[in-house]
Amino acid sequence: MDRTQDCGSCNRGSTPLEGARNMNLNTPIEEISGIGPGFQNKLKRLKIKTVRDLIFHFPHRYEDFSNFIPISKVKINQVCTIAGKVLDIETNKTWKKRMYITEALIEDKTGAIKAVWFNQPYLTNTLKKGSNVFLSGKTTIGKNGIYLSSPSFEKGNFSSDLTHTGGLIPVYPETEGLSSKWLRYILKPLLSQLRIEETLPKSIIKEYNLMPLSEALWQIHFPKSEEKAQQAQKRLSFEDLFFIELFVLRERNKLSSQKAAPIPFNLDLVKDLVDSLNFKLTNAQRKSCWQILKDLERSQPMNRLLEGDVGSGKTIVASIAALNTSKAKLQTAFMAPTEILAKQHFQGVADTLQDFKLNIGLLTGKQDKFRSKKLKNQTIEISRNKLLEKTLAGEIDILIGTHALIQDKVKFKNLGLVVLDEQHRFGVEQRARLCKRQTKLIPHLLSMTATPIPRTLALTVYGDLDLSLIDELPKGRKKIITKLISPKERNKTYSFIKKEIEKGRQVFVICPRIEKKENEEKKNSWSETKAVKQEAELLRKEIFPDLNIATLHGKMTPKEKEIIMRDFSAQGGSASGGKNKKTDILVSTSVVEVGIDVPNASVMIIEGAERFGLAQLHQFRGRVGRGKHQSYCFLFTDSYTQKTKQRLSALISSEDGFALAEKDLKIRGPGDFVGGRQWGIPDLMMNSLKDIKLVEKTRQTAKEFLQQDPYLKKHPALQNKLSQFRQRVHLE
Ligand code: ADP
Ligand code: MG
Repeated sequence: MDRTQDCGSCNRGSTPLEGARNMNLNTPIEEISGIGPGFQNKLKRLKIKTVRDLIFHFPHRYEDFSNFIPISKVKINQVCTIAGKVLDIETNKTWKKRMYITEALIEDKTGAIKAVWFNQPYLTNTLKKGSNVFLSGKTTIGKNGIYLSSPSFEKGNFSSDLTHTGGLIPVYPETEGLSSKWLRYILKPLLSQLRIEETLPKSIIKEYNLMPLSEALWQIHFPKSEEKAQQAQKRLSFEDLFFIELFVLRERNKLSSQKAAPIPFNLDLVKDLVDSLNFKLTNAQRKSCWQILKDLERSQPMNRLLEGDVGSGKTIVASIAALNTSKAKLQTAFMAPTEILAKQHFQGVADTLQDFKLNIGLLTGKQDKFRSKKLKNQTIEISRNKLLEKTLAGEIDILIGTHALIQDKVKFKNLGLVVLDEQHRFGVEQRARLCKRQTKLIPHLLSMTATPIPRTLALTVYGDLDLSLIDELPKGRKKIITKLISPKERNKTYSFIKKEIEKGRQVFVICPRIEKKENEEKKNSWSETKAVKQEAELLRKEIFPDLNIATLHGKMTPKEKEIIMRDFSAQGGSASGGKNKKTDILVSTSVVEVGIDVPNASVMIIEGAERFGLAQLHQFRGRVGRGKHQSYCFLFTDSYTQKTKQRLSALISSEDGFALAEKDLKIRGPGDFVGGRQWGIPDLMMNSLKDIKLVEKTRQTAKEFLQQDPYLKKHPALQNKLSQFRQRVHLE
């Protein structure tokens, strides 16, 4: 492949790249001549700041203009490329539509064809009469025969290297003011003159039969063939995968070289607790407990993710670990994502452990009270300072709270275990922040999530964590009845809901948005999207005027949310008699997604269900069916596309959060998937995440690689990239 080709045919005067040889990947875009301040700003809006960012901005598809044909052979509705001379060109304004139309006549040896462009009057100057041009595009039939409609063009003759016509032409994700043509114009000369060092070791390139990096970068932008484009994608996605593996495996190794306080497995104590419960642990809960208690015994810090569907009973598992920790005279920090959940955990954990004479504290946001739970069921309120003092003195066994726990003021005497509920990927860092003021010993970490993690993600993004799975629900839970409701069935469904509420149940209504914008007309489907405020108004006025309807959304203050949730959780809606009239229906955005436990709620309505991912819908559904009542999940949608139907019916037929997550990954594509966004993982790598075999093999390779060279001393390029990666992950 000729990489030093002449780019004189880029059509826009001089090439932008004198001096490119002095550039490297870290060169800021300001130093690329040809990119003026206007374009610099546009690029920055896309977070493109360096040469690296620019060349790693990949096309999302290619236009296939490789079909070169003589003009006489051109047919209707054909995508093709022709080469010829401009016989004539002129621009006219149509008065009716107030539009410029440029028409050109192009001739080759076999014939002539018309080309038409709209609103590009400058073309008359660009494609002057007599110039040799290439045109690529689709043909259409008009009054006067076949013509090429808005074709791509560039000047040149047969010896020219083509950028915008002929062959596979890269098309970049659409962005304000940055056309694919401009990107091609900048990228081609940049790539052809840049020296790009290989990042992967030779042995790996050979073993996986990969394209060298410099060629891959060339071929992903300007592929010679479909096959080359695919090879380039394979190479680049492998590289990301390999780095993620190196990263998580290195984190794992680092952690295992650190010390934690071993916590003896106190079997009698655990038995006492289990016997005191009014239910039997499921086998999956037992197994998870066992794995955790075994980990705690070790003098290396535990790094474990406890994964279990909503309602699978993760809290009791964490409570067992915390009790065991307290008997070793070590403290537990238990962090929940919201105040509501922190309070729920405080109540729940304190109740569960009431026979064990522990001090349990609750620490939440500024405006909150602080309590310490002493001995039996006696809850007392103490000042925040007092609580902090007690924590520092080691008198608090379990401190439950929100992010407030990681403030500098909060110091533990002997932190042995950190439990993080629904904190996803960031556990490692939160532990680091919790224990940075601590002694040499690192606390054990138990992270909990109800988000089902597909296997490929477990082996990559979550690859530094050991996994415990609660894959069964406690016995006797009733299956939640899930139904897709069309607009026609809406009223019937409302009557059903009314009856449920009369029986004393409560209802959630989830809307995709908080409120409708002013002046929003009902023109497109987006404006039809249900919004919390308007929906609540509608329900109050027209559908359920006798009922108590509250709203909840992310723009409320924590205090406001708190009150709303307290009223909703305080069981006994209107049907409990006028005296203690509490909320019957809670209209909310997705903020109710995480962990809320309202056993009396039996109906979950999701408006605009097609707007949510399957995994998220499954989480919503998990908010009901937590008590003894038969529960329902109604999916309201007015979208009837095949894709919507397919996705939503998956939810109806499956209760398996894991299967749904895998399906989500397949149908919606990986871009939206949990973890991916947070890590800023490129779509390319997310694609290779669909290939479990590749993921497993890559992980193995990375393991072996690190065994031979644990600190990557022999591979500075790798180490360099790894530290960049670490920065990126930790900053986000
Ligand atoms: P999640 O895993 O969603 O955090 P929780 O820990 O909140 O679930 O448990 C949900 C409910 O199930 C709680 O009320 C809890 O007491 C109860 N529970 C937990 N384990 C069992 C079990 N083995 N049998 C019956 N109920 C259980
Ligand atoms: Mg929970």
